[in-house]
Amino acid sequence: MRLDTPTLFLMTVVVTFMVGVLFLLSWSQDRTSRPLAIWGIAHIIGAVASALLCLRGSIPNPLSIGAANALMLAAYGLIWSGVRAFEGRAPSYRLAVSGGLLWLLACLVPQFYASLPARIALASSIAGLFCALCAREILRGRPEPLASRWSAIILMSLYAGLYWIRVPLAVFVPSMPAARIPESPWIAILCFAGVLFTVAIAFVLIAMTKERAELQQRLAAETDSLTGLANRRAFVRRTQRQLAGGQPVALLLFDLDHFKAVNDTYGHAVGDGALVAFSHLAGALLPPDAVLGRLGGEEFACTLSGCGAGEAARIAERVRHAVAGVSVAAYPRLRIGVSVGVAATSPGETTAFDDLMRRADAALYAAKRAGRGRVVVADPSPHRLAA
Ligand code: GH3
Ligand code: MG
Ligand code: MG
Repeated sequence: MRLDTPTLFLMTVVVTFMVGVLFLLSWSQDRTSRPLAIWGIAHIIGAVASALLCLRGSIPNPLSIGAANALMLAAYGLIWSGVRAFEGRAPSYRLAVSGGLLWLLACLVPQFYASLPARIALASSIAGLFCALCAREILRGRPEPLASRWSAIILMSLYAGLYWIRVPLAVFVPSMPAARIPESPWIAILCFAGVLFTVAIAFVLIAMTKERAELQQRLAAETDSLTGLANRRAFVRRTQRQLAGGQPVALLLFDLDHFKAVNDTYGHAVGDGALVAFSHLAGALLPPDAVLGRLGGEEFACTLSGCGAGEAARIAERVRHAVAGVSVAAYPRLRIGVSVGVAATSPGETTAFDDLMRRADAALYAAKRAGRGRVVVADPSPHRLAA
């Protein structure tokens, strides 16, 4: 099969347009995702630009050369703006169209407009720059773990490289007469590569968007909406993973004292504020690798890996003491107390999560019975408790 240049050009227009429509359809399903809308518009503009390029010879040159390339560069600028929006940065529309405007200004210089190598060099430099900027933005967002992020970075970098390699080629390799350009195998190769990159980049951009939505859903399903801590399900899962690691694990169960009275006296909103304040205070006092979660209501739990019962009790006491010392200027009589039950596994001991939880719960119950506002450590033996 032999693909001629007009067929490839037509394919470029149709594919780019369809990719634009696909982005806009995805955006219509999730209108909060602005990048999808920006990428959709960018691809529609790119399709119009490709159509104008295709019509070279049939329409006036200012349209097929001047306007077509300006629109193409604006499309690349918009893709970069969409990537910025995706990464949570302000999309810069002024900079996005600056490449196209620079191109139009250059076209006003007759020597430039008459020189095919100069035109190729400038358009390719700008398009390559926008692709490289896209790669850079996506690279900067790498703390967010999206598997398709690296595919996007590689693709954008390769596309930038493909454009930039055209610059020395255009300048140093003697160009053929304009009339024979459509016959050049390079045009067919570039067209084909362009279509492949368009489809591949659209694929990874949509994959990144979907992956982020899934990640956010997963995080929301594992997060307590009031405090932002791990919820019971996530906490249990993480603790089970720690227990499976074989290292000693200490479990601290916190239950705020007389919390019903706090709600009854000061109102539910103040109670909510106290729960959030407790989560912040405990989070600040616990070791960085501690897993802290809200089991529900006014009950919190924390697991410490590689920590024995003695050390865990000292950490629990530090939190209890700090909570007892908190005062709020607006409510001078408000005090929050917390009781803590601590249970720890011994080195080499395999303990099921439920057993450890039962022991910590029994210790917490003992703390409540002994007068609240204290830490009780469960005895290594499941049936004996030591205060
Ligand atoms: P104890 O010292 O025995 O633990 O007494 P308590 O009052 O803390 O325990 P109880 O289980 O009787 O009451 C828990 C209270 O926690 C009841 C409920 O009003 C309050 N609570 C549970 N979830 C929330 C919440 O999300 N926000 C607020 N403000 N209060 C909550
Ligand atoms: Mg309770
Ligand atoms: Mg309570």
